[in-house]
Amino acid sequence: MTHEQATFDAKTEIDFVIIGAGAAGGIIAKELSAAGFRIVVLEQGPYMKEQDFEHDELKYMRQRAITNDYKRQPNTFRATEKETAKLQPAIIYGRQVGGGTVHFTANYWRFHEIDFIERSRWGSIAGSGFADWPITYAELEPYYTKTEWDLGVSGLAGASPFDPPRSKPYPLPPLPIKSSGVLAERGAKKLGWHAFPAPMAIISQPYRGRSACLHCGFCEYFGCEAKAKSSTLATVIREAEKTGLCEIRPNSCVRRIEVNKAGLVTGVTYFDEGGREHFQSAKAVVLCANGAETPRLLFLSKSSLFPNGLANSSGKVGKYLMFNGHAQASRSDARVLRGRGNGYALRVLPDELRPSRPATGRAQVGSSIQSHAQGALHAHCARIGTHNFVAGGDKQHLARFACERRVGAARRAGHLQRPRGRHEDDAVLSGALQGTPGSGGAPKDMDPRVKKSDVRLSLAGNLPDG
Ligand SMILES: Cc1cc2nc3c(=O)[nH]c(=O)nc-3n(C[C@H](O)[C@H](O)[C@H](O)COP(=O)(O)OP(=O)(O)OC[C@H]3O[C@@H](n4cnc5c(N)ncnc54)[C@H](O)[C@@H]3O)c2cc1C
Ligand code: SF4
Repeated sequence: MTHEQATFDAKTEIDFVIIGAGAAGGIIAKELSAAGFRIVVLEQGPYMKEQDFEHDELKYMRQRAITNDYKRQPNTFRATEKETAKLQPAIIYGRQVGGGTVHFTANYWRFHEIDFIERSRWGSIAGSGFADWPITYAELEPYYTKTEWDLGVSGLAGASPFDPPRSKPYPLPPLPIKSSGVLAERGAKKLGWHAFPAPMAIISQPYRGRSACLHCGFCEYFGCEAKAKSSTLATVIREAEKTGLCEIRPNSCVRRIEVNKAGLVTGVTYFDEGGREHFQSAKAVVLCANGAETPRLLFLSKSSLFPNGLANSSGKVGKYLMFNGHAQASRSDARVLRGRGNGYALRVLPDELRPSRPATGRAQVGSSIQSHAQGALHAHCARIGTHNFVAGGDKQHLARFACERRVGAARRAGHLQRPRGRHEDDAVLSGALQGTPGSGGAPKDMDPRVKKSDVRLSLAGNLPDG
């Protein structure tokens, strides 16, 4: 905990209790405390700091070190209400202060204007609850902009011809492109598609006291040790604490929201780390526990006044959950693997984001070609010939365990220690970004199909066709 952090007695009636210190909870905590309100944020997970994060792929990607644990909080699934629910891992979310923004990949997209009015544009879909949003893109735009500047997002405004209008450019230039991104862009141009740098909540240059991304490659599923990922942990939560009005109370799992006889909230009941029950009194409760846990808590908070769960007079709580499913094809290329760096940051193709009539309840499909390399586990699996770890398919399971055993042995033997500094490709390309020659000497690790001049042209949006 930081020295600035406020501490409130659980019996003191504070202004707001916020449940969940993730993407939404972090931002609300900062806005409310900066406006002078007394806040307690109850987070079920621990309060980890940058020095606590590790580059341990087994622990973070397989053993769920910083995401929800199905053994501790099992998920169940049933297709219809008549079936008996069975245990089935289903949801993944970050379970610590910062929530999902600690381990997320940090792609930072805005909705398009059409996303808000799909029902009006396309009509109803039988059997669905297809509806327009009650707000428009224009109403939301100032908040998108504020969030991008408050957190620190890198990108190139206007690079995508399909982007919705924006009142301000991104606060930071796009992340440096690597050889594989140039190849993706070149291929896209041949097909007449538009490739542009993905907007990322990762800082490409120093920003508000944080230093720029080191391109270590451990973004998705990992916490950033460099504070370069613009998680709420690294940004707004720290600012909320500095107001002296916000207490982040980790290891505090809320079990229900309490109401008085008039049906007004009085606070929340929660368990501390030792399983002891407490009541935190508050004038208002803000529920920010994500798409899965928020409805669950509303159901757990049912009472004689609210027999169907809190805030559920419509009967809609827990329905119409939207997932971002995707199909994926990937290829491992030794040259691409060498050009490692932050995941999914290179070039994306928005061409299929054009409006089209929905066939199955979705009005749009998006596609992206993303070129990235992740950590040593993937690289090592590629080297020892167990590509299925990355490629998926039936053999994935077996390959995974073969890999884990071999990687475990390699780690114990000290062969898998990765340098924390910049990669040569990064150095060359970052130099190009700043308009200076790369300082990494001969670009040994750059893909031989890519010249440094291509990189400069791509960054300036002038890579020639063909
Ligand atoms: C692997 C992965 C990659 C992702 N990559 C991206 C990406 O690139 N771009 C993107 O936009 N999104 C990405 N996401 C999704 C993104 O992380 C979530 O959409 C976002 O974090 C949701 O924000 P939230 O505030 O609703 O909830 P969260 O950020 O999940 O925060 C909820 C918090 O509430 C806490 N909580 C829950 N129940 C309780 C309780 N009973 N008591 C106390 N605390 C509780 C949780 O522990 C958690 O910390 C990714 C998600 C995953 C799993
Ligand atoms: S690639 Fe950059 S943002 Fe991602 S974890 Fe490494 S330093 Fe942090």
